[in-house]
Amino acid sequence: MARIAVVGAGVVGVASAYLLCRQGHEVVLVDRHAGPALGTSRLNGAQLSYAYCDALASPALLRHMPGIVLGRDPAYRLRLQADPDFLIWGLRFLANCSPGRFAVNTRHLSEMAATTRSLLTELLSEFAIPFDYDVSGKMILYASAASFAAGAGVRRLKQSLGVEQETLDRAQASAIEPALALYPDPIERVVYSPGDAAGRPDLFAAGLVDCLSERYGLQTIFGDAVTSLLSHRDKVTGLKFAIREPIRCDRVVLATGYATNLLPDRVPGTVWPVQGYSFTAKATSAVMRVSVTDLKRKIVFARLGDDIRVAGLADIGARRVTFSNARFETFRDAATSAFGGAFNSREPEDVAPWTEGRPCTPSSRPIVRAGRLKGLYLNLGHGTLGWTLCLGSAKQLMDVMQDVEGG
Ligand SMILES: Cc1cc2nc3c(=O)[nH]c(=O)nc-3n(C[C@H](O)[C@H](O)[C@H](O)COP(=O)(O)OP(=O)(O)OC[C@H]3O[C@@H](n4cnc5c(N)ncnc54)[C@H](O)[C@@H]3O)c2cc1C
Repeated sequence: MARIAVVGAGVVGVASAYLLCRQGHEVVLVDRHAGPALGTSRLNGAQLSYAYCDALASPALLRHMPGIVLGRDPAYRLRLQADPDFLIWGLRFLANCSPGRFAVNTRHLSEMAATTRSLLTELLSEFAIPFDYDVSGKMILYASAASFAAGAGVRRLKQSLGVEQETLDRAQASAIEPALALYPDPIERVVYSPGDAAGRPDLFAAGLVDCLSERYGLQTIFGDAVTSLLSHRDKVTGLKFAIREPIRCDRVVLATGYATNLLPDRVPGTVWPVQGYSFTAKATSAVMRVSVTDLKRKIVFARLGDDIRVAGLADIGARRVTFSNARFETFRDAATSAFGGAFNSREPEDVAPWTEGRPCTPSSRPIVRAGRLKGLYLNLGHGTLGWTLCLGSAKQLMDVMQDVEGG
């Protein structure tokens, strides 16, 4: 068995470490943060969105692009950058907006998500991890007949993939989720996927790391950045750190989200951060149990124990992710206008704001492959769906490793 270093302890790195440990490898999990899931995985929308794995690049988004460029949709912000990496990413993204590419990409993501779903069930029968997990289902709200009709092609695609979804009117949906009474706008139709789930990714990752340390002797190195890969004759031999001494290993998995600086064969335009915001607030007694996506405002609401997690916005442009008060207020106002009755927000400390970048590839498909150096593997670029894809993607990584290493 090999000694394998996994760089990046977000949900993707931790899921990779899990399957590697199960195969009997000696695994070292490394992150520059002080613990697991303190990057993009930390306070995301929390949705295990198995039925809604639509690629971000789509014909619908392309039709919407003029409005986005002109700044007419508050959910998106596009800031063009004079950066070759960004321009190449953007062109590749546009090429993925065709109906054919969208269908291929969405099919791939849906299959990966289905693998996550079954592996998560297995994992939770092995380990008891408290992360406010609930198979609460998900409802997508369509405000108008036109927006519902525009989604017909995607629904047909989902049907062909065997995705579990049903269409309800407002009264039928309200019978399942009474909190829809809080929503002030018209609802033309609701697409309901009862098998979708929600849970806190940060608690999941931290809990799984503890279980793996105890059961499989997983080692961790937190609070130090990897500065380069060590190699000899084109084979990876270890990791060099900013502070501590280097470590030796036989293989390295890069699960570094949108950080691509360690890739020896980095191709420009591979991954770009698409910034989003979330807040976590105490839920009121009127809160929903079913996760809700308000398509009109492009905001997701998920109940997590006594809290609600609300996430939205897609800001495409800056390479560095920084918190913007103005953007957060736009987002919070929109969330309040939709389901303000579901959470307490009277005092500033009632609402815990957060922002991060979604590690997006132009196709929305994660990069899961062997690297240029022997013993190097990549598992990154999970975009808007990394929580939903993490175990499926880790399984794909195991298959790639098996193909390359044999045995
Ligand atoms: C607002 C928002 C809402 C979202 N909602 C959802 C949702 O509801 N459902 C869903 O499925 N997905 C959602 N996502 C997407 C999801 O959060 C990401 O796809 C996922 O977290 C990516 O996980 P990761 O492990 O690849 O990246 P990360 O969690 O960012 O982990 C990468 C880790 O690599 C470490 N790292 C990088 N470089 C180095 C280095 N040189 N040395 C050491 N460590 C390094 C970083 O510190 C980081 O911890 C959302 C994202 C956002 C921003």
